[in-house]
Amino acid sequence: STRVLTGITTSGTPHLGNYVGAVRPAITASAAPGVESFFFLADYHALIKVSDPARVQRSTLEIAATWLACGLEPDKVWFYRQSDIPEIPELTWLLTCVAGKGLLNRAHAYKAAVDRNTEAGEDPDAGVTAGLFMYPVLMAADILLFNAHRVPVGRDQVQHIEMARDFGQRFNHLYGEHFTLPEAVIEAQVATLPGLDGRKMSKSYDNTIALFAPREQLRKLIFSIVTDSRAPGEAKDADASNVFQLYQAFASDAETTAMRTAFADGIAWGDAKQALFERIDAEVAPLREKYEALMARPADIEATLRDGAARLRERHATPALKALREAVGLRDLS
Ligand code: ATP
Repeated sequence: STRVLTGITTSGTPHLGNYVGAVRPAITASAAPGVESFFFLADYHALIKVSDPARVQRSTLEIAATWLACGLEPDKVWFYRQSDIPEIPELTWLLTCVAGKGLLNRAHAYKAAVDRNTEAGEDPDAGVTAGLFMYPVLMAADILLFNAHRVPVGRDQVQHIEMARDFGQRFNHLYGEHFTLPEAVIEAQVATLPGLDGRKMSKSYDNTIALFAPREQLRKLIFSIVTDSRAPGEAKDADASNVFQLYQAFASDAETTAMRTAFADGIAWGDAKQALFERIDAEVAPLREKYEALMARPADIEATLRDGAARLRERHATPALKALREAVGLRDLS
């Protein structure tokens, strides 16, 4: 079977971008025959960006409830919290010792921080933690521990998958064929959703529309999307519009074509936003109901996560680390 791995960082409340870019396609893909899916809550990754423990805990619960509300079946897929698997940070160290520092210097997230500092005339590494620098190694461990074949990602993450391949290859070269080299899968039809301010919707930018915001709040958030000042009756450029991009991610092809025409015909922003709100709410409302029921029973979510991690450790993680420790010359812990 093909192993497919998807993680979401527990750095905040899940949003429409996480749904369209990760949750919805991953759950659809998991139903295909011959697919073994790994869905995880990336809480070690969250610590790179968030130092608010309550936020990380709340986000963990919210993201778990989101996966479950959207149809993840915990008996049919691997569903776990990253930090419940101690073999992940252990593998991270083994990979750190084969990871080229020069390669990490070129990682996008780190380079972006250095470039920002340099432009501002500061020390290039000001405020940059080793966690941000090492993030691709942790991500490689997430993937290589389970010998995942495919990792669906946005374009900006392709480089990190290539790094995982590089670290895995070096390890295999030194210690024997332990790792399957993963492939990035760029889902061309999956859009990157813009946030309220027009930048990429991201938990880190606080520009998100929460996936399960209560109905009235969803409406308010959608009406607060930044638009240009074109008046009703004036033609509007669909391709340059955040409202249109969001609409497209939730509408059928026929609805999208009709909306494109409405933009050219000068639909009022208020009407476009109302249509967007109704389209999103129609898809999300039944899921929201399930989400709210799940969030009312946090102990059940916790039990599901612990059970998933325990089974995954027994089946994959613990035996994998046993073999890897032996391969590099460390003592057998079992
Ligand atoms: P953070 O700011 O903490 O990185 P994020 O909200 O940008 O959070 P992640 O948790 O890193 O998102 O990503 C989880 C998944 O959601 C990934 O598969 C990512 O591609 C997808 N995703 C995140 N933001 C968007 C977006 N704006 N549009 C489409 N997909 C997105």
